[in-house]
Amino acid sequence: MTGTAGTHEAEVLCPFCGEPFTIVVDTSVDEQTYIEDCYVCCRPIQFTIICEEDELISIDTGRG
Ligand SMILES: [Zn+2]
Repeated sequence: MTGTAGTHEAEVLCPFCGEPFTIVVDTSVDEQTYIEDCYVCCRPIQFTIICEEDELISIDTGRG
């Protein structure tokens, strides 16, 4: 467990360029989907993040 209460840092890979980077997840939300541009290749990554009782369960990255 890293980060402060309610957040969790996770390393993910960009599905376009394969570059690893760290995102901060709000673990107080059970399920969230959002799109954020990769800071390396600037293409839109779709994140699907599942949490349960402030625990990070899974992160999916897709080509939004
Ligand atoms: Zn990228």
